Amino acid sequence: MIDVVTDKLIPNPDETHDESRQGEAFSPFKLDPNQYRKRFYIESYGCQMNFADSEIVASILNQQGYGATRNVEEADLIFLNTCSIREKAEQTVRKRLTEFRKIKEQKKGLLVGVLGCMAERLKAKLLEEELLVDMVVGPDAYRSLPSLIEEAETGQKAVNVLLSREETYADISPVRLNSNGVSAFVSIMRGCNNMCTFCVVPFTRGRERSRDAGSILQECKDLFNQGFREVTLLGQNVDSYYFQSLTSEVNTVPITFSMLLESIALISPELRVRFSTSHPKDITDDVLFAMRKYENICRYIHLPVQSGSTRILQLMNRTYTREWYMSKVNRIREIIPDCGISSDIITGFCTEEENDHEDTLAIMKHSGYDYSYMFFYSERPGTLAQKRYRDDVPDAVKKRRLYEVVEMQNKLSLESNIKDIGKSYKVLIEGNSRKSENDWMGRSSQNKVVVFPKINNELKKGDYVMVKVKSVTQGTLIGDIV
Ligand code: SAM
Ligand code: SF4
Repeated sequence: MIDVVTDKLIPNPDETHDESRQGEAFSPFKLDPNQYRKRFYIESYGCQMNFADSEIVASILNQQGYGATRNVEEADLIFLNTCSIREKAEQTVRKRLTEFRKIKEQKKGLLVGVLGCMAERLKAKLLEEELLVDMVVGPDAYRSLPSLIEEAETGQKAVNVLLSREETYADISPVRLNSNGVSAFVSIMRGCNNMCTFCVVPFTRGRERSRDAGSILQECKDLFNQGFREVTLLGQNVDSYYFQSLTSEVNTVPITFSMLLESIALISPELRVRFSTSHPKDITDDVLFAMRKYENICRYIHLPVQSGSTRILQLMNRTYTREWYMSKVNRIREIIPDCGISSDIITGFCTEEENDHEDTLAIMKHSGYDYSYMFFYSERPGTLAQKRYRDDVPDAVKKRRLYEVVEMQNKLSLESNIKDIGKSYKVLIEGNSRKSENDWMGRSSQNKVVVFPKINNELKKGDYVMVKVKSVTQGTLIGDIV
């Protein structure tokens, strides 16, 4: 089944929904001297917010004397941090649960917990459907994990799926595991108020709330002091970030997203700042001007279009038209001519006709996306689309249209990369290239993967270097240090 396109088509593995990271387990804390009373194993699925949440879960468990393990056989607690965005994501988790059955039979007292969106969507029903599950914990209930574990240890099933209007885990310092030590993700808000008709997120992650700006700034400063050189600010709709302190007597000015961006950019010119995701209806000129003003705010915007047809966009409740989206892209190009732009696209949404699909292909071309994350529509129970419309586009048609969208993106990615030949880019080194230890791999400000030979031993991970592009593939720029 085609769902998300292959790794080759997703050259940015750290963004939104990264196939190569699905089901990734946390590594144990390196050289950790502590003796833990129990070991937990956690696997994460879905978007980057979920991976960031697993770092919060790890921090909460760590404080209670639980240590992480990457070896599931060694674990006393197994957690799956799940995704509900498409049916396939849920099927993957259910399949994974069956694989734990054997381990559970062999190890008395082993507890299995389902966290995240699937826990929130299915609630206690999940306990009836998946008998080996002991704990079901929604995304706003992670602080209660220690007490839920205690409850489950007595043989009871433990559930907490309460959604909150306030919880942002602002005071919890995430445990960075599986990190390259160079780039980190920082959650700046939770939930979503947008109600796109296809989407389950507003139901599984609750109302939108922004995290305390002071705690975000402090986390970014700490990361920089620990040697990190890039932070990606995460939220379902970062441009609607809005924080006003109700407790501080000194600083009561509301903080908008552009103000937050600017304050993080000022930590150090050596710290790159990225953000995701921008809703086209909310990104403002203020944000674009802040990007232009600070060299270290990366020239890259993830601006999901979903469809190129105004009629379909209306059915999706995206609140913009095709023309409005196109003018937003034009505005970005006018203010930041060298900005990279990527998108999310859904094919075969309810009632989609060939002419709507043609509009999607045309808007991709107009926008000249560097990458896209492409999906065929998967009806999700409880969403507005499931209640209001019929999922009437046959699977074969959805998949054929997806194939055409993927082909278009391949062409656009290659064209965009070819334009970079002969140009030089400032690259932040993330580590060895996947293919050879003799090459470095890093990213340009536009978020393109750049690979180049190590010519001396002076450079290291986290350094910046200018690289001139010699040749390209669809997903990579290949060059030499200049
Ligand atoms: N908040 C982000 C936005 O509005 O662009 C995206 C959040 S969602 C986790 C990531 C992407 O999954 C969406 O942009 C959409 O393309 C895709 N998606 C969401 N619901 C879907 C569904 N029911 N079927 C197929 N793709 C879906
Ligand atoms: Fe889902 Fe729309 Fe919110 Fe994105 S903006 S999370 S697609 S409801």
